Amino acid sequence: MRVIKSVKQRYSPSEQTLSLLEDFRLMMNDCIRIGLREKVTSMKSLCLKCYHTLEHYDNVATCYRLTAISKAAGILRNYRKSLRKNPNTKIPYVKKIQLVDCYRFRIRGKRLRLTLRAHEYIYVDLSPHTLAVISGFTVRSVTLTNCTIILSFSKEMVVMEPAGVLGIDRNLDNITISTTNSQDITYDLSKATETKSNYRTIKSHFNRNDVRIRREIYRKYGEKQGNKVGNILHIVSKQIVEKAKAEKLGIAMENIKGIRKLYRKGNGQGNHYRGRMNSWSFYELQRQIEYKAKWEGIPVVYVDAWGTSSKCSTCGCKTYPNEHRQIYCPRCSISVDRDVNAARNVRDRGRVRFTLIESPNEAMIQECGTSPLILQVDGGKLHRAQQTQQNHKILHLHSDISRL
Ligand SMILES: [Zn+2]
Repeated sequence: MRVIKSVKQRYSPSEQTLSLLEDFRLMMNDCIRIGLREKVTSMKSLCLKCYHTLEHYDNVATCYRLTAISKAAGILRNYRKSLRKNPNTKIPYVKKIQLVDCYRFRIRGKRLRLTLRAHEYIYVDLSPHTLAVISGFTVRSVTLTNCTIILSFSKEMVVMEPAGVLGIDRNLDNITISTTNSQDITYDLSKATETKSNYRTIKSHFNRNDVRIRREIYRKYGEKQGNKVGNILHIVSKQIVEKAKAEKLGIAMENIKGIRKLYRKGNGQGNHYRGRMNSWSFYELQRQIEYKAKWEGIPVVYVDAWGTSSKCSTCGCKTYPNEHRQIYCPRCSISVDRDVNAARNVRDRGRVRFTLIESPNEAMIQECGTSPLILQVDGGKLHRAQQTQQNHKILHLHSDISRL
């Protein structure tokens, strides 16, 4: 399996670069228009329709035509997909300048060389961090925006055969993991929630009635908040993936698709509560864990989230909430931390998905000492038992013969 990772750095573009980026944006929009008019979405047919119409961009090297078409094809595909869900989807149009290259860029020493036209190049200095990250890998593509460069690189990775499972339960203020070696760890995320609530307060104090200024200020704070929260999440996700790698564990997470629907306007919840619940960056954490795990060849599965926090992880019985985020199971008559319980449930569901539990036949053999056989289910087992009996008979026969 090929796994991809990317590294981002800031740069200050020259006039030439900016005009190249702007041309690329126009090319993409041309392709999107043609694709919409001709109703094509596949890369190949879009290429046949667009390639020659892009000829009038004679300032731009021809290698960028293909990447512009491929980007446009991706946008059209996404548009068609969301059109199926929502017929009022906006017609796509690229506003931000950008450039994608996967053919003609070169890395020369500490610099990135981009082709402007035949034998005309732009050079961008790469930061020491970027160089350290990409060293030893082949860079596959380069994406430029008005202030950042993103280099994507890949490697071939064999997906590891997990020896156990690490279940993850994501909560608002913490993330709890539980491994098959029966270790439970809770990582504190209250800093992230706190940062978000602080920025929400700051933004709520803005009351000038000017959309442009508000947009600018929200953008600025949004970026700051994203950086801060992202940092906290990176530390946690790195630790989790390192643990999974060291102990050869597969990762299981809850599938929480559609969680935002629970906290929508009109659901009878307060503004404050909704804001708090929707500020939960579960997706960012999931994204980080998933790409880091894939890079290390660790398999990730998503399991059904239903009942993970309300059912006992030992007996599957319904539990009752207790003081201090504890839950009480009447059958086991114990109190456990509800996050730990949920993580254990996720782990056990993950085990089924990874087929780490013994095959049904073997599980039956252990149990059927006392219980009668159920023929349909235990057919394989019965067969096997008969076979072993026969083998024993043959063995006895052999020993009898040898004695004679
Ligand atoms: Zn129980």
